[in-house]
Amino acid sequence: MHTKVLDILKKYFGYHNFKKGQEEIIMSILKKQDTFVIMPTGAGKSLCYQIPALLLEGVTLVISPLISLMKDQVDTLENMGIPATFINSSLSFAETEKRIYQVKQGKYKLLYIAPERLESAGFASLISNLQIDFVAVDEAHCVSQWGHDFRPSYRHIPDFIKELPTKPIIGAFTATATEEVKKDVVNLLTLNKPNIYITGFNRENLFLSVVRGENKRDYVLDYVRNNRDQVGIIYAATRKEVESIYKELSLAGFNPTKYHAGLSTEERKQNQEAFLFDNNNIIVATNAFGMGIDKSNVRFVIHYNLPKNVEAYYQEAGRAGRDGEPSQCILLFGPQDILLQKFMIEQSVTSPERKSNEYKKLQEIIDYCYTPSCLRKFILEYFGEEDVPGDCGNCSTCTDDSDLVDITVDAQKIFSCIIRLKQRYGSTFIAQVLKGSKNKKVLELNCDRLSTYGIMTEATEKEIRDIINLLVADGYLSLTEGQYPVVKIEEKALAVLKNDQKVYQKVQKKRERLPEDNSLFELLRQLRKDISNKENVPPYIIFPDSTLKEMSKFYPQDAHALLKIKGVGENKLQKYGDVFLAQIRKYAEENNISRNITKEANETTKIKKKIDKTPSHLLTLELYQTGLPLEEIARQRELTLITTQNHIIQCALEGLAVNLDALIPQEYENLILQAIKTVGGEYLKPIKESLPAEVDYFAIKAVLCKYK
Ligand code: ADP
Ligand code: MG
Repeated sequence: MHTKVLDILKKYFGYHNFKKGQEEIIMSILKKQDTFVIMPTGAGKSLCYQIPALLLEGVTLVISPLISLMKDQVDTLENMGIPATFINSSLSFAETEKRIYQVKQGKYKLLYIAPERLESAGFASLISNLQIDFVAVDEAHCVSQWGHDFRPSYRHIPDFIKELPTKPIIGAFTATATEEVKKDVVNLLTLNKPNIYITGFNRENLFLSVVRGENKRDYVLDYVRNNRDQVGIIYAATRKEVESIYKELSLAGFNPTKYHAGLSTEERKQNQEAFLFDNNNIIVATNAFGMGIDKSNVRFVIHYNLPKNVEAYYQEAGRAGRDGEPSQCILLFGPQDILLQKFMIEQSVTSPERKSNEYKKLQEIIDYCYTPSCLRKFILEYFGEEDVPGDCGNCSTCTDDSDLVDITVDAQKIFSCIIRLKQRYGSTFIAQVLKGSKNKKVLELNCDRLSTYGIMTEATEKEIRDIINLLVADGYLSLTEGQYPVVKIEEKALAVLKNDQKVYQKVQKKRERLPEDNSLFELLRQLRKDISNKENVPPYIIFPDSTLKEMSKFYPQDAHALLKIKGVGENKLQKYGDVFLAQIRKYAEENNISRNITKEANETTKIKKKIDKTPSHLLTLELYQTGLPLEEIARQRELTLITTQNHIIQCALEGLAVNLDALIPQEYENLILQAIKTVGGEYLKPIKESLPAEVDYFAIKAVLCKYK
């Protein structure tokens, strides 16, 4: 059974290894155990029910919450050669009947259905004599009202299962792990002594970042400008905000689309598709967007407003980087958002118990925004992980290299002005007074006679407002609730006014930039887009970004080499192999990449690195011996060229077989030797300085090594 599972993984999915947990989960299901899987978004849950479905005798029913995405999921499977279909309200009765007939004939192994179907008596009788071996409930947290996407129709699942002639295996899959939700899933879905799998929540490839007290609009425009053409989601809390960001980005010449509940069903569908197909690279959306979206090449998720809790945040942010490539999750925090979230709780939750629960969760996400420690640690501990290291190296805390700028004087000016204005006005008015504006209201209220009038003329009103926002974000000031928030002084500001404490503003040295993609990657991306248009399936269904990245790293030039690339299974090889190979060969030829760089060489080094901790310089040597140029080795191993050169020298010094002559430019060998004799062989720098500039350190080291 075990080898069969692995074969399927390779043949259909084109993957050579399981991700963490997948294998155990698949085996649990195949042993006919009810199975409950809690893994973060992007961890690869789908495959855990898709593979058993292929091996079980009868059919697998997949319950998935979103009708609009079923076609997409089924297309993905079909493209890999896995027979699947779906039934939902978008189909006519005749079509539904036909599909069920085909399922009975054994044409399909997977049948996707929306939970709403389960309520219809017609449906129950339609499938009454179908052999259902396995029911996979995706997004299982929807069954719980404590979860963040409660769907009443999920409550019909247990009744439906009870009616089936034989009890199927039940699998429940979710990314939400709070205690209430866990209990609800087990009880409400009537899981029978389930095997529960909770893998870690860490998503290494996601860069987590909180940006506090910055001007959000400027930030987003800047970010998008720096990451042109990258695919991303910008979440905002309200329709109004979505519309205004959308408009701003469009005006600035970017290519966004939008999604919120105020748009018609048709429009939402169109916009979603445009995003899935990479026609628009940015989608500005409320949290109505995203559940069940498996788009794997999302490179950034920006939260323009505070989300309602940490689960919701991590689920939404986790839509970045499903393909495992580096991606960014940025939360823009402004304290006004807290008021908005409180307002939403008041509006939407009536039960006092749930209300206090929601407030508690809101406070936790606020804590996330203020934590001075590692953001990844915060999230992982939130999900109950223990012994999390405190320095992930991949969040805005751990990589903080910002300069602190002393803004005490500006802060004091602002605080004094607020006090002179008797803490009765909002930030716009305060900024006008400080700027010395001739605004009518300012003059009418005689504010030009205040001692703080016009004491910040050198700043713009917007800059002053930005500083006020920062001071609010850092707790020196607070805002009252309501439509026109008034700025109040907090305790913390008094110490600053008394000159007991200073105020600093962090100034980022550099904005996060995503690494540049190479030109073959761009060509392959274009090729994928062309195929996508022709076949009318989203690009990432053809190949995820990670697959194209591997192709552009290893230059596979025949079918055999292509199959080794992650994400290329047999079906896709047949379907797309030739065109992609043609493009790669053409590129390789034009760029003089003569070698078919085999993936094995790299694969071995990776495995070795993990298992026996082979010293790094030996790994470099191993690659070097396959004939790769050092530049290429440096690129593959993500080292500097100098490091790989040093590795080779070290190997030579250790007496390993290194052909030093190949490293020494012949015409300089004698000259270098002379120089060593003259200035001595102890220090490199004087040798280098006594030689022509084109002789590099590497050559000198090689000569030293040769004549040691
Ligand atoms: P989830 O449902 O847990 O959010 P998905 O099932 O959508 O995640 O999988 C996320 C991505 O990971 C998909 O692009 C999928 O193809 C990929 N993936 C799944 N399993 C593997 C694997 N074993 N190796 C490499 N990639 C995988
Ligand atoms: Mg999923």
